[in-house]
Amino acid sequence: MPILFPELPDEFLSLLNEVLPPAHKDAALVSFTREKPVFFRVNTLRITAEQLQRQLESDNLWPRPVPWLSVAFSLAVADKRALTKTEACQKGFFYIQNLSSMLAPWVLDPQPGETILDLAAAPGGKSTQIAALMKNEGRLSVVEAVKPRFFKLKANLDQQGVEIARMFLMDGRAVGRKCPQMFDRILLDAPCSSEARFSRLDPESWAHWSPRKVKEMARKQKGLIASAWTSLKQGGMLLYCTCSFSPEENELILDRLLRRVGDEAQLEEITLPIENTQPGLTRWRDKTLHPDLCKAVRILPDEMMDGFFLALIRKAAS
Ligand code: SAM
Repeated sequence: MPILFPELPDEFLSLLNEVLPPAHKDAALVSFTREKPVFFRVNTLRITAEQLQRQLESDNLWPRPVPWLSVAFSLAVADKRALTKTEACQKGFFYIQNLSSMLAPWVLDPQPGETILDLAAAPGGKSTQIAALMKNEGRLSVVEAVKPRFFKLKANLDQQGVEIARMFLMDGRAVGRKCPQMFDRILLDAPCSSEARFSRLDPESWAHWSPRKVKEMARKQKGLIASAWTSLKQGGMLLYCTCSFSPEENELILDRLLRRVGDEAQLEEITLPIENTQPGLTRWRDKTLHPDLCKAVRILPDEMMDGFFLALIRKAAS
């Protein structure tokens, strides 16, 4: 007898139909139905990729390198439990993370010595990656509004050996007012309706989703991106990303910012080392959007990667 998984909500399926290219629909549905391999990123603050690989092999785990990201490896999902029991895990030698998420700090490209803000940071997967890219040199401010998540973030930063973080338990929407034009680069991995994390194996994953929830998240995202924009130095870079498909949480948020600040903002081209992507939409239903939105990228979900949306915006130098 085939196993029948619960179907995703109809309104969500029709949203996918509208947003994703028809040729990708089957691969997308596989993504919601199968468990993906476990991916993890080497914590280069603590160990090299070669050393970690050797150490895991001595635990009888045989990770496969991700060809396009030198710090990323995968294992079969059946090995996940064994991986989390290793000494390497306890010592913070790696961080388990979806491949799409690893691309966000990679696109932001933080440099050692810079002043960086992660405006919605818990549990810290991307903050720890940013610190590693900065080689623990410079200043990294991390903001989280939800108390238990803030403490989880603190534990992860400590475990991963991040030494440059200043932590703030606060609403990210207040940061712009408090710290105008302070940061060289900002990551806004916005709280969202998490549509890309839906799994037919876990109906709880969409239990709180509705078109109304999408609107509610969009309201918060508008406040957060306005705050991030005020905090960004002239000439600085803002990376906006979500794990949602809804244009209301992605293109429409950016369209509003681009129209509000005019020439002060310029969307940058993003080139990813993968093929399962499509350009941002420049039209949504009856609305024509800013033409530069085609420079944003939607990662299309498949059997390896979760869906994701990324847009990189430069603030004019003066
Ligand atoms: N970047 C994180 C990572 O890679 O581990 C994931 C961030 S998650 C998508 C968004 C986070 O924003 C959640 O931890 C949520 O609690 C937090 N958040 C929600 N509202 C916020 C607000 N107003 N200000 C700051 N953070 C907020």
